[in-house]
Amino acid sequence: MNATHDPSLTSWVASANAPDSDFPIQNLPFGVFSRKGETERRVGVAIGDQIVDVGESLSANLWTGKARDVARFCDRPSMKELMQAPREALSEFRARLSELLSGTPGDESTINPLPPGALVPMAEAEMRPPVEIGDYTDFYASIYHATNVGKLFRPDNPLLPNYKYLPIGYHGRASSIVLSGADIRRPLGQTQTDGTAAPSFGPTQMLDYEAEIGFFVGAGNELGEPVPIQEAEDHIFGVCLVNDWSARDIQSWEYQPLGPFVAKNFATTISPWVVTWEALEPYRVPAFFRPPGDPAPLPYLSSEEDKNAGGIELTIEVYIRSMLMREGHMRPSRLSASSLADIYWTPAQMLTHHTSNGCNLRTGDLFASGTVSGPDPGSQGSLLELTRRGAEPVVLPTGEERRFLLDGDEIIIRGHLEREGAARIGLGECSGLIVASSAR
Ligand code: CA
Repeated sequence: MNATHDPSLTSWVASANAPDSDFPIQNLPFGVFSRKGETERRVGVAIGDQIVDVGESLSANLWTGKARDVARFCDRPSMKELMQAPREALSEFRARLSELLSGTPGDESTINPLPPGALVPMAEAEMRPPVEIGDYTDFYASIYHATNVGKLFRPDNPLLPNYKYLPIGYHGRASSIVLSGADIRRPLGQTQTDGTAAPSFGPTQMLDYEAEIGFFVGAGNELGEPVPIQEAEDHIFGVCLVNDWSARDIQSWEYQPLGPFVAKNFATTISPWVVTWEALEPYRVPAFFRPPGDPAPLPYLSSEEDKNAGGIELTIEVYIRSMLMREGHMRPSRLSASSLADIYWTPAQMLTHHTSNGCNLRTGDLFASGTVSGPDPGSQGSLLELTRRGAEPVVLPTGEERRFLLDGDEIIIRGHLEREGAARIGLGECSGLIVASSAR
């Protein structure tokens, strides 16, 4: 850890010092934005309810050395070059930006060193995709999720024998990844729910969400050159929130023998702000504790460092707001809270396994954790688990019941990191509103 993580640091941007702000000065996540009504895209940094337009700050003489290189990479319509930047350059940039933004609101000795126009209120900006995502992979790293889902489909044999040996994953669809705020159209598909021989085609009746964490690949690896676990984290730029929308009735009919296909590739939502790997340092925790009897990871998936600090203490909350709740101006209601520290495989193990056969990852690729569920009631990251596949509906504050999502429902995922001796930082929001299927 370094001076940028100091919990006592404050910013002259007053909104950054609010105790519940996701973007205090200890965070400094990157995102791509446009000023409202304009099309030009730039990389910015969130601070409180403002965005630092780093490109706009280049005119002032604020940046030197490697920090200046990184500042120039922000004067781009995508984060691709930024994501490729060497770790020490990103670190120099972060240290300098922290210095430029630190101070006490109202204190006369504090000055705003940024040139006019370099600070844009979030309310006057529209967020854009951080980078063109070339490939997207979804893992299945929560043993609680895997067990809960396994029990519903295979009561006698919930966890398959490979689960504790390798991080299970599948290749997802990058083209249908959308940014928080985009509507989600209810997908059509084949279902065969009543056990009759012929399936039918129509709108899914079992639309669900999956609360996950996404990891952006920074530096890629060459085809044929696996990334050893000791170097895996050097290839991760940062994290965002992910909602892997899922149509359970389509999924249960199509998933054997090759896994999910059109049940999941119609939409995946990501949050717009990418929290850097360096910002996560204070919240690192040991990897999942494997109880006696569980196999040790094979040597290629094992390192002392990963075992001691490969996990991340990150709380993920899911909220719902139905059309009735919106009309009644009610606040979103919380469905679950879970922790990324409860997943069985670490991000480094997932990345190493992904490349272990020589598969190349490229800058801007995204891989996600899989649904993050915990061991306790209320920590299940999907409706499939919360309602036991619809058998036990959840009740909303309006008295409405939900087995799965209805048109007009909005799902909002939030994430934050909090720890004794560290500031509270957040990932912002990942939201999507369900709209009716298109006419067939
Ligand atoms: Ca998933």
